[in-house]
Parts: sequence; C-alpha cells; structure tokens
Amino acid sequence: MRYSFAYQPYRRTFRHPVRTAHGVWTEREGIFVRITDAGGRAGYGEIAPLPDFGTETLAEAAEFCRRLGAEIDADGLALVPERLGCVRCALGFALAEVGDTTPVATTAGAAKRLPVAALLPAGRAALPVLTQRLEAGYLAFKWKVGVGRAEEELPVLDDLLAQLPAYARLRLDANGAWDRRTAERWLERCAECPVEFVEQPAAPAQVDLLLGLAQDYPVTLALDEAVANLAAARDWQARGWPGVFVLKPAIAGAWSDVTAWIRTTQADVVFSSALETALGRAQIVRRLAAGDGLTRRALGFGVGELFGDRRWDGPPVGPLLDAAWGEATEPVALWNAAS
Ligand code: MG
Repeated sequence: MRYSFAYQPYRRTFRHPVRTAHGVWTEREGIFVRITDAGGRAGYGEIAPLPDFGTETLAEAAEFCRRLGAEIDADGLALVPERLGCVRCALGFALAEVGDTTPVATTAGAAKRLPVAALLPAGRAALPVLTQRLEAGYLAFKWKVGVGRAEEELPVLDDLLAQLPAYARLRLDANGAWDRRTAERWLERCAECPVEFVEQPAAPAQVDLLLGLAQDYPVTLALDEAVANLAAARDWQARGWPGVFVLKPAIAGAWSDVTAWIRTTQADVVFSSALETALGRAQIVRRLAAGDGLTRRALGFGVGELFGDRRWDGPPVGPLLDAAWGEATEPVALWNAAS
C-alpha cells in the first residue's frame, strides 16, 4: 500500500526558557509528519529532536523527510535508520494511525488513569512546592539534585521526607552531575530513606561507575541521559544494568519497538516527556492509557504549560492522566497552526 507523505516544520517559543545542562533553551523546533491514504484518511506524527541528549538533529530529520519524497509504503518504517529515533517515533505513529481502523483508546483504556510525577525545583524551593502538589493530589514527586553542594541539599532531603506521606514516592534526579564521592555520599544516605529511585547519579559516559554504584547500594538507580534511544537502552541492558530506564518515547524510536522490548525483557521503565508538543504527547498518553503492564511507575509528563497555548500544550496535566487527555488534542489544528 502506498500513501502520500508530507511534513511541516514548526517552531514555538517556550513560555519560560528551559534551563538544561547545555544552556538556556528558548524555543522548541520540530517537524510534524502527515501520511494520507487514497481515501483521504490521515495519520500524524511529531519529530521532536533533543540533539543535546544524543538524538538526531533537526537538520538531519528534515533531510530524511526531504529525501523520502511525496510517498511512503506501509512498511516505510524499515527505511528509517535506528539512529533517527525521533523520525522513527513520528512515522511509526502516523503509519499506525492511517493503517488502523480501530481507535487506539478503547472504553476500558479510557478508564485507566496513570499517575504523573510532580516536578520539585532544586534546593529549599522544593519544600513549599511539595506542600502545594500534595494538596493538589499528586502521589509521586521528582526533585532536582546536584545543583547545589551536597551539604546544602542533604538537609533539604530530610525536610522533604519528613513532609512526605507514606503513600507518596520521591525520586531524585542528579542529571549526571555527581562525581564518585558525592554519589557515594548521597546513596549512603538514600539507602536509609524511602526514595523511589535516584536518576542518572553520574554522567552517561561513566559506565563502570554507574554499574558499580548500582551494585554497591541497595537504592534503585535510573538511567535517563544515558538512554536517549532504544539501542542505548539495549546496550545498558546487555551490560547488566539492574535498575530503571527513563525512556522518552518521542525520541526513543518507534512505539511498537519500544513496547516489544519492554514486554520481551520486562524492563523497568519510566515514561517521560521530551518537551514535545501536545500532538506527540497525546499519541503517547493514549497508548499508555490503553496498554496494560508497560509500567508501574508514575509518568514524567508533568512538564506544565510549556508554550502558554492550549492548542500546543494540550489540556492542563494534573496528578492523573487518562486517554481522554490524548483525545482532547487535535492534530489537524496543530498542523494548520504550524503552516
Ligand atoms: Mg532526568
């Protein structure tokens, strides 16, 4: 089966600039793709690269789309190298939507509600935000660490845990910032605490250190920056990584590959946002709400209103997400707004 293929670059300014390890990020650039059958039925997808995270660049993705031309086969995903994880995600969703006549979200799926982790800012500022988010009904929290010195941050950990009800979960994210000594100091402390997991305690290149820490401490560790795509996750699994994989489906690859890997290997996964627009996020959320058993952990989709525009952000995200969130977004509206 041949389909027609089109793509549309987009660019949106963030409402508040996003601070990353690589500097300040002011706008999201990506590409929407559209695949249409002879009857006019269309499927959409979003290419949302994070090159600082190790994905393809926007230019590489655009070049692939340009070379693809105006048509694609039903099995066109086979043409996309694994390295282009963002393109594979977008084309996988678009092809699945145009080729499938059953809606993704079933009634049963729509009833499934998935907890979302609330983000806590670095340092003492986390404490009042934790109080607010607990009142809003959040069950899981992620606190950024490794921003200040350990002697300043560790007492805040005690204060956060003192506020945390027994039903709630706290995860820490060091974004690869710790050296061995600092990581050991934190993990010794965390071993005595009800911390769900510690994310990326050292930089991705510190393979032996990360594997060693995972072995030496009873605390669950998670990889995030180290697993930009499915190939990287497979590599870490082959090295014997015993912890969690934080996967951003928008950049990891085709959804069908991601889910097959999780089901086959029983990988312990947290799904998280790549700061994509509502188009890509809705596709992921709809499938998560419909698919049983992919994760038992809260989602990392509590990214707030990135763009300050309901069309681009989707409905507000609360403590629980369900398929209805994904249904409330309209791909055609985003496609038209981008063109
Ligand atoms: Mg992280």
